[in-house]
Amino acid sequence: MKFTITILGCNSAIPKPGRNSSAQVVTLNSKPYLVDCGEGTQIQMRKSGIRFQKIDHIFISHLHGDHFFGLIGLISTYCLLGRTNPLHVYAPDGLREIIDLQISTTSTELTFPLYFSPIDPDRPEKIFSDDQMLVSTIPMLHRIPTSGFLFVEKERDRNIRKEFLNIESPSFAEIRNIKAGMDYTNSAGKTYSNPEITRPQYRSRSYAYCTDTAYSERILPQIRGVDLLYHESTFMHDKQPKAEERFHSTTVQAAMIASKAQAGRLLLGHFSPRYEDLQPLLEEARSVFPDTDLALDGCVFDIPLKRW
Ligand SMILES: [Zn+2]
Repeated sequence: MKFTITILGCNSAIPKPGRNSSAQVVTLNSKPYLVDCGEGTQIQMRKSGIRFQKIDHIFISHLHGDHFFGLIGLISTYCLLGRTNPLHVYAPDGLREIIDLQISTTSTELTFPLYFSPIDPDRPEKIFSDDQMLVSTIPMLHRIPTSGFLFVEKERDRNIRKEFLNIESPSFAEIRNIKAGMDYTNSAGKTYSNPEITRPQYRSRSYAYCTDTAYSERILPQIRGVDLLYHESTFMHDKQPKAEERFHSTTVQAAMIASKAQAGRLLLGHFSPRYEDLQPLLEEARSVFPDTDLALDGCVFDIPLKRW
């Protein structure tokens, strides 16, 4: 039942030792999902002990190189390892052409089916769902079409509400059916809908990945109440004009978004290589939103289970 985020790269366009370009692995119940794939991602996955052959779904925010230059390397390694499982890539239009060209000019022989699903960067949409996770896009405000991603854990293990058991006496078989999601009809013919008489054992957990973007309150309705928010903070707040000019955010802006969204916790990332010491960025953000951490390479952040 673990829900974790493993940071593989925390820097912006120029990587440096210990601070790679953007990539993260979201893991739920041992199933990994890759988010962005900057240069060096496969090495970072090996360092972090990620079982990268288990990755079947990759989400790419936009087509600036620091977010996808590692993809062809990863695909090439999968081929050399003889991967056969299909790989699904969700990305803005254009990535398929880039990867197809790299595959054909390097005579790479694909050993597995590779599927691309284009993302509409202008509106939020559900792009992926499996038995445990739902992923939606979050439109970002950047120089080129860019989408953030919202990961929401699906509800599971429903418990029967006490109030219902105080007035009705279902049999063991009926209790099993209710827990499996069925409605209940009593001997008098009254029907209770399942959501009315049950609730999930645990609250659904959520994670929002928001990069690259200028300050944009347009995303607030989508990320309201998120347990963990990753928001880019390329610059310190004294560089706000530069941040605006380049459609990036500052520490304080990231913290303001976390505060206005009532996020549980904030992770800062996508740091400009100009900053050797990141502590001042952390302190600046914490002055606005105390529950903030630096999303440094190799860090793993856990979203704990929350009972009702
Ligand atoms: Zn970037």
